[in-house]
Amino acid sequence: MLVYLNGSILERECAHIAVDDRGFLFGDGGYEVVRAARGRLVAVERHARRFVRTLDGLAIAHPPALAGTGLADISRELLERNGLADRDALIYAQVTRGAAPRTHHYPPPDTPPTVYVSVSPFQPPDAVRARGARVITCPDLRWARCDLKTVNLLPNAMAKQRAVEMGADEAVLLREGVVMEGSASNVFAVLDGVVRTHPLGTRILGGITRELVLEAAASLDLPVAEVPVLADELPRCSELFLTSTTNDVMPIVLVDGRAVGCGRPGEIARRLYDAVR
Ligand code: PMP
Repeated sequence: MLVYLNGSILERECAHIAVDDRGFLFGDGGYEVVRAARGRLVAVERHARRFVRTLDGLAIAHPPALAGTGLADISRELLERNGLADRDALIYAQVTRGAAPRTHHYPPPDTPPTVYVSVSPFQPPDAVRARGARVITCPDLRWARCDLKTVNLLPNAMAKQRAVEMGADEAVLLREGVVMEGSASNVFAVLDGVVRTHPLGTRILGGITRELVLEAAASLDLPVAEVPVLADELPRCSELFLTSTTNDVMPIVLVDGRAVGCGRPGEIARRLYDAVR
């Protein structure tokens, strides 16, 4: 597979990062994951804008290579050159503050950021969607800027690992009795006929799929409220679902071993999935 690293396209095996890269030493960087559906980049402008917000939030200089349509251009070139131009694929893009002698404070502003982009074939999780996802709840151990899509993913990885060990598909993170989001997804509930999800802010990532689902819900005239769902309300939800670039809309059928609604993928999740697709 060919990857993009700092202006070059080269074989993955030949792509090397300096050991003093701040991404390696501090998790000092941001990333994006974009979907390509049979070669078409999905919502890539929204992903590029969020990437800029993340880099601004971290005060990392904008790499010229990603300016304007840079992310889309590099993605298309990698898809093309890796034989994925008409396939389903994922694009992974990461920018770190670059390589510099290790100090906690930032290196001089002229330190070039490290820019990495890779692509891989992707199979949507349609089998899980058909049976419905199983989730566990666990405490949200993350920091106070979850709106930034940083590569500091250890609490997310720990939560997801716990889910996998429990035979579940995703971990839903709870903070003081409130459903925040999944380890790598946003969470929606249907309660008393209203589609609810946590409001934007610094405690969740503003998912691109979350945005698309809210727009789809409006176009379907579904009642929507960006109001937090309490953990205590989970047993009363008629539906629960996850949204993310890799899951689209993924119905949840089991939370901590307890059935959601009738225990089968819900109708509203299916309508929103169809609308977003
Ligand atoms: N929240 C978190 C913590 C995530 O990692 C992701 C996936 N990147 C999402 C939400 C969903 O975001 P998106 O719909 O943009 O993939």
